[in-house]
Amino acid sequence: MGQILEYQHFINGQWTPGETGEKMDVLNPSTQEVVARVPRGSTGDVDKAVNTAREAFESGVWSDKPMEERAEVLLKFAVNVLKNKNNLAYMEALTSGGTIRRTMAIDIAAVADAIKNSVNRSRELPMLEHAMCLPWYIPQHSYFTREPIGVCAGITPWNFPMILAAWKFAPALMMGNSIVMKPASITPTTLLDLAQIAYESGVPAGVFNVVTGPGSSAGSYLASHPQIDKIGFTGSTEVGKQIAHLAADSIKRLTLELGGKSAVVILDDADMSMAIALCLHAFLYHSGQVCESGTRIIVPRKMQDQLVDGMIKKIKTMKIGNQMDPANDLGPIASAEQLKTIMDYVAIGKKEGAQVAVGGNRMGGELEKGFFFEPTIFVNCNNQMQMVREEIFGPVQTVIAYDGDEAEAIAIANDSPYGLGGSVCSTNASRAQWTAKKMRTGTVWINTHHMLRADAPFGGYKQSGYGRENSYHSLLAYSEVKHVCQNLSSDAASYRYFKVAGCN
Ligand code: NAP
Ligand code: MG
Repeated sequence: MGQILEYQHFINGQWTPGETGEKMDVLNPSTQEVVARVPRGSTGDVDKAVNTAREAFESGVWSDKPMEERAEVLLKFAVNVLKNKNNLAYMEALTSGGTIRRTMAIDIAAVADAIKNSVNRSRELPMLEHAMCLPWYIPQHSYFTREPIGVCAGITPWNFPMILAAWKFAPALMMGNSIVMKPASITPTTLLDLAQIAYESGVPAGVFNVVTGPGSSAGSYLASHPQIDKIGFTGSTEVGKQIAHLAADSIKRLTLELGGKSAVVILDDADMSMAIALCLHAFLYHSGQVCESGTRIIVPRKMQDQLVDGMIKKIKTMKIGNQMDPANDLGPIASAEQLKTIMDYVAIGKKEGAQVAVGGNRMGGELEKGFFFEPTIFVNCNNQMQMVREEIFGPVQTVIAYDGDEAEAIAIANDSPYGLGGSVCSTNASRAQWTAKKMRTGTVWINTHHMLRADAPFGGYKQSGYGRENSYHSLLAYSEVKHVCQNLSSDAASYRYFKVAGCN
């Protein structure tokens, strides 16, 4: 058994113990060994972090800094994230179960990209706009600026702990806000490390704070805190709804990125090798623990068997095992709780009459110590089944055959409470574009899936949430607009506006 890392909250630029001294264990999901311990944050700890963030905001130490100076600090932060690549990627893989191959190749670059994107887009956004002086005789100057909202809360899930946090803290910091973040309890350590790296890069003490603790207590207290002005949340639709209620009382600004059940629409002109690879990637990236995973394949009936056979053949060659081994393609499920959710849905699917074409079981042998589940494909599904309608968040694919044209496929795709992602597989650009246009969802990929980029807006239609992360949209979501109007007349008597109103 390796060394257990002991963490504290990161508040006001310092490692800060929790007031109760209670800790939570952080496990490696491949072995169930404890790898770290973090404070079980109390409401007192949240108060401390929020008050610190408020003081930092009001002091102007960051919020009043010129944009260019904030940009310089953040670019240094991005460089330092890359310098800490090995440690961050290691801990991210170790605690979340994401493969080390992926966290090294993708996650670190994505965090740095999120920071750089916020800086670069802020240089393109009109931060200051003017209205012309009116041509009649009310001489005045009007201008509009973008200002920080104040103190933000960021509450994040366990699937991509660093990336989903960066999508919040990067725009929040760029626009001059202070932020208090609460990571998921099973993957809290890398966000704590990122806050320290930000501080060491020049983000002033108190501007970027991280408190660990249970969502049901520390998280909901943070979301309802009167000193919080804006919440950025990624997680389940169920908790998202609770947060919307908590935010409503004091009209907090809110960005919600919630669940999904995205469709993969195969058109009858699709290239079969492309369709096979796309349908696998759509549901196996991070073992399906991705909010925009494509987990409803909608395929022409005559192509179904070839597609499913091709997927099964490929699955048999995939290496599943400890995420820390760079040879492995797939790692474990992130937690015992998530593994149980997946197994429950597989049982539901069987009861509903869908048939398991491959997989369907927890993995045994050497992998029994961890939370491993076989890549699983259900055929004979229909869009009314509970397993097809609800988010599973695991390596479980469902296949729905259709007999009509793309209009039928689109109708099935859109018959969902969610609208986060989706993809189309076709060799005909105009049919693919038309299908993409008709899909009621925040992102549509054509002949690919999961291609998220820091400079493209990401977010949901329907119950997948509201607001957008990434691109310049996230800068808008972390700022307020102010109109300043100055009367240029020198005295009240010469100012026609007062005269018209009978006030002078
Ligand atoms: P979750 O409960 O929504 O957790 C997400 C974050 O919210 C975590 O930091 C969690 O803290 C916190 N939280 C939980 N209850 C809260 C509350 N009442 N008030 C404020 N914050 C709260 O998600 P989960 O339980 O980890 O996963 C459940 C399901 O959510 C998954 O099966 C999947 O379907 C979906 N999910 C979606 C995404 C996504 O990217 N959209 C990501 C993860 C999960 P704790 O960790 O301490 O509970
Ligand atoms: Mg939960």
